[in-house]
Amino acid sequence: MAWDAAQRKCVADALIALLDRPPGGVGIAAPQIGKPVAIVVIDCRRARRPCRHHGLLVMCDPVIERAEGEVWGREGCLSVPGWRGLVPRAARVVVSFFDLDGRKKRLHSEGFEARVVQHEVDHLHGILFIDRIRSTRDLVRR
Ligand SMILES: [Zn+2]
Repeated sequence: MAWDAAQRKCVADALIALLDRPPGGVGIAAPQIGKPVAIVVIDCRRARRPCRHHGLLVMCDPVIERAEGEVWGREGCLSVPGWRGLVPRAARVVVSFFDLDGRKKRLHSEGFEARVVQHEVDHLHGILFIDRIRSTRDLVRR
């Protein structure tokens, strides 16, 4: 089923509203609210620690074109409540996507925002951060 612009906007608005509501978060993907469409919303202005970011991002059909470096960091997920994990991710990514108006974009991201991009794109492929931890010792109750 194809999703038209109005439907994509509706899903994006619902995702943004969820980030606004406690417990909030820095990113969420459409499959997490039962919508089988490749849309993620990322907003690292909400990060607990200040980081370089691009503000509110709505990405349709995001594809990670390049990933470099490796860095370990803690992640949580609205879909895995109560747990945090130490997860290896690329330090820098180049991600291409379409915005809600169908314009193709390419973004260079690094650090925490790059981690969130990878986490959210994973959701579109049915992968959770707990699938990426290397040891159960890296999983902790929050
Ligand atoms: Zn998640």
